[in-house]
Amino acid sequence: MTTEIGKDIAKARALLERGLLVAIPTETVYGLAANALDPEAVVQIFEVKNRPRFDPLIVHLADASEAEKYVGVFPNWAEKLADRFWPGPLTLVLPKRNNIPDIVTSGLDSVAIRVPLSPLTHELLSQLDFPLAAPSANPFGYVSPTTAQHVADQLSGKISYILDGGPCAVGLESTIVTEEDGKIHVLRLGGLSVEEIEGVVGKVVVSTSHASVVQSPGSLDSHYATRTPLRIGKIDLSQYDISSIGVLSFETRYADIPVDHQIVLSPEGSLHEASKNLFAAMRYLDSLKLKVIFAEEFPEIGLGRAINDRLRRAAFKTGH
Ligand code: AMP
Ligand code: MG
Repeated sequence: MTTEIGKDIAKARALLERGLLVAIPTETVYGLAANALDPEAVVQIFEVKNRPRFDPLIVHLADASEAEKYVGVFPNWAEKLADRFWPGPLTLVLPKRNNIPDIVTSGLDSVAIRVPLSPLTHELLSQLDFPLAAPSANPFGYVSPTTAQHVADQLSGKISYILDGGPCAVGLESTIVTEEDGKIHVLRLGGLSVEEIEGVVGKVVVSTSHASVVQSPGSLDSHYATRTPLRIGKIDLSQYDISSIGVLSFETRYADIPVDHQIVLSPEGSLHEASKNLFAAMRYLDSLKLKVIFAEEFPEIGLGRAINDRLRRAAFKTGH
């Protein structure tokens, strides 16, 4: 199978209507999309990604008014968040209707829904008469793709079309929110900060450990991982040969490290800019096949929390 990258919505639509997969741009990361109402289409997502079937998918809608078709109850807190943040990097986990196949939700009686912000994907979703189930368009466990080329680098030959919406504006997966025992829980930190959510619904519980009641594999301890060991925290250059180290920093350039072995995520100190650049930087440093990548710890505020979350899970894999 040859893999084409382009901006042809009609082509993407025709493939999806035939029950095939298409990679789609969103403001968070690129998604690997299929007709969410067709179990045979959805099963291919798990095969192509090598994703375990217990990991449920997010259902993407053209706009918030579509939600009532797939969600049984849309409580007040969810409505407030949807009003404020959709389209945007917010996923709501709500009781599902029966038209959502079990394979999408891994048999759970809740479904994760989101309205993405991307002109191409919005237009595509508006033309389709079904929503799109779409996890990140990468092999399970690896760093998520934030450009069409990232998708092609790993899924070439496995899907026929990648809709190219340019680099993702947010660059981190969506923030996943649900209600449990009368409290609002954040199940995954992401491109919408906890502070912004709390500004609308008040105090929330951050339950992103995999020990949380609701299973959310995006919260597996090891995920989003580079192949090169990654260490997070204070950067200690003394133990290694300088030429074999990669550095991922927030604002600081390290004079001792070769320029092409380090990425400064935001010289101006913007957490938004750092988020947008994070995954491309991790992929780039990983591609250098160095001994170790050192990553700075970010301030635990705003998007810094989600950045730290991704870096810690990437670091967990190798026990660093
Ligand atoms: P991905 O699309 O790869 O970023 O992964 C989607 C994330 O949403 C996974 O971590 C899922 O566990 C989570 N998710 C999807 N549906 C549900 C659900 N019904 N309950 C809890 N988490 C969910
Ligand atoms: Mg993923």
